[in-house]
Amino acid sequence: MADNSALNSGVDCREHLRPTGPTMSAHVDAIQQQAAALRAAIDDANYRYYVLDDPSLPDAEYDRLMRELEALEAAHPELASADSPTRRVGARPASGFAEVRHVIPMLSLANAFSDAHPPAGVDPDHEVRDFVRRVEQALGIVDPEFSVEPKFDGLAMSLRYEHGVLVQGATRGDGTTGEDVTANVRTVKAIPLKLRGAGWPDALEVRGEVYMPKAGFRAYNERMLREGGKPLANPRNGAAGSLRQLDPRVTASRPLAFYAYGVYRPEDPDAVLAHRYTAAMAIVRGWGLPVCPQSGAVRGVEGLLGYFRDIGARRDQLPYGIDGVVYKVDRYDQQRQLGFVARAPRWALAHKFPAEEQSTRVEAIDIQIGRTGAATPVARLQPVGVAGVTVTNATLHNADQVARLDVRVGDSVIVRRAGDVIPEVVRVILERRPAHTRPWKMPAHCPVCGSAIVREDGEAAARCSGGLVCAAQRREAIRHFASRRALDIDGLGERYIEDLIAFDYVHSIADLYTLTLGDFLAMKRRAEERDGVIPETVKAGKIATKWADNLVAAIEASKATTLERFLFALGIPEVGEATAKTLARHFGSLDALAHASEAELTEVDDVGPIMAAHIAAFFAERRNREAIAALRKAGVHWQETAPQRKVAGPLAGQTVVLTGSLSKLTRDEAKDKLESLGAKVAGSVSKKTSFVVAGEAAGSKLDKARALGIEIRGEAQLLELLKAHGA
Ligand SMILES: [Zn+2]
Repeated sequence: MADNSALNSGVDCREHLRPTGPTMSAHVDAIQQQAAALRAAIDDANYRYYVLDDPSLPDAEYDRLMRELEALEAAHPELASADSPTRRVGARPASGFAEVRHVIPMLSLANAFSDAHPPAGVDPDHEVRDFVRRVEQALGIVDPEFSVEPKFDGLAMSLRYEHGVLVQGATRGDGTTGEDVTANVRTVKAIPLKLRGAGWPDALEVRGEVYMPKAGFRAYNERMLREGGKPLANPRNGAAGSLRQLDPRVTASRPLAFYAYGVYRPEDPDAVLAHRYTAAMAIVRGWGLPVCPQSGAVRGVEGLLGYFRDIGARRDQLPYGIDGVVYKVDRYDQQRQLGFVARAPRWALAHKFPAEEQSTRVEAIDIQIGRTGAATPVARLQPVGVAGVTVTNATLHNADQVARLDVRVGDSVIVRRAGDVIPEVVRVILERRPAHTRPWKMPAHCPVCGSAIVREDGEAAARCSGGLVCAAQRREAIRHFASRRALDIDGLGERYIEDLIAFDYVHSIADLYTLTLGDFLAMKRRAEERDGVIPETVKAGKIATKWADNLVAAIEASKATTLERFLFALGIPEVGEATAKTLARHFGSLDALAHASEAELTEVDDVGPIMAAHIAAFFAERRNREAIAALRKAGVHWQETAPQRKVAGPLAGQTVVLTGSLSKLTRDEAKDKLESLGAKVAGSVSKKTSFVVAGEAAGSKLDKARALGIEIRGEAQLLELLKAHGA
């Protein structure tokens, strides 16, 4: 008996092999019993609070028990046990989250929507009726039994228990492979580290939703605002973001809870705990896992719709956020009979609440600059509650959409929000339009950096042309600049780039070339402080500076590059590696390219009018030219070459045909000179010929030119033309 209890409370067995006196042993037993009693009391309080929804202990009393247990475990380290309630917060994973393959895939459910304002003659609930009819037909029964439960606004989670102890928590991921977030899941007090009671299989998988209760969400955000921290956007993001924290202490500080809605035996996927889903969940609840009290069982389509309307009416009063309800055929044998179609179970349906709409007023229309420079108009709204969330902004997508809706500042508009999609403006209430409003126009300059906003014909998006200087595009610009096929700064990954920007080491790309070893080490120290990790620089001494040495060397090495790499690195919209290469060959030097007109750019192979416009707009922006000058000043250099195609001259676009013999120069000399002025010299006359130069004894070419009505010039006129252009 003594051995058993020692094992159960995790005490090292060797303790019992040591010869100890009877008094000593009795003392150890007493302390063990005290610890076991405290753990049981705390587990019981959690169970009553989260599962029974019947809190038994005041918070202060709960905290007192916890402190007592902590003190006891600190004084007697041999009492340590992984499933002690004091051990919820553990060490962070060494390197990100490991992958977890789901033995039984975590499938998503088919969705149904009930239309709030259906067109005349359309049954708003036809998708639910179709679902029930399909189930009835497949099973050959009428009014089958369904389990019903809310569809929670959180993050789906798989919990694995072995011998009653929580060993793994994994996210859904893509359904087949998720992330191992065990350390974070352990901090969620609603999830028992150890199952209660008895009778569980050796291996058990419980699925459910980790969510953030509305009250906890509000309290957390109030605290954040008071303390100057960052509030969470909504409870769903709160749950998902909290579980994906690398530091479990952060997760532990977030008010998270859990509801179970599935149970499996991973070693035997076909085995069931009971004949019905609702009965199986009652067993799971008995083992200490919370099951939503607003779940139940109903019969037939009217039962489903009745539940849907009832929950919908009570939605705002529920302590957790939901976006619909879930129906499941209750009997497992019937579920098996129905099976799956296209990876979704035929026996379940998610019935979503309709998207909600509200009217409000547009106070301003701003533009937001995305990380690649796209300018998106955004309506700033008088705050309005839509589907349980306060909406203050709505996307207008692009200038065409603004024009289509004709949204103006001062307008009353209908705003729609569906699920966690960004709210959007649906339409303007024209009857309420105030006098003297004006149609909206895309501003001429970027609100972030002041560069010109340009929109090329045929493109939906307008964009900020200050790609190299715009703070909104900085991170993406540096990432691209440093990438392998651009300037190839080995080791400068996204995390370092983010920290360099966050701690103000880099404003523009040229700043990269001013960074010293000391800057990198200081940056890393600040990042470690912010993330609350033990400084590697302290831990490992000298070796930990090697990465910074390497980075400084990589930045230095990147200075010697090629024109084509440099052009690609600039991140001009539409200019990929292949185009950068063509442009480098064609122009030979950066200055020649920067001064080329749109017309000259379109003469380059594969450069169309949109790309030419982007290139011209990029170099037209003074701020970009300054950024390039700064890079060259910092030492970035390359070999410039002679242009391999003639730069457009005064005769660009003209096609000339030579015929007969000339007296003052040879045919080849004439050809070279014409080409040096940008003309193309062709061997035969066609409609595209600009003019023909006829020398002595011109033959059939002259006849053809006459027939086509093409201009004919003599040698004297040719010499005049060449002289006029300095050839
Ligand atoms: Zn900008």
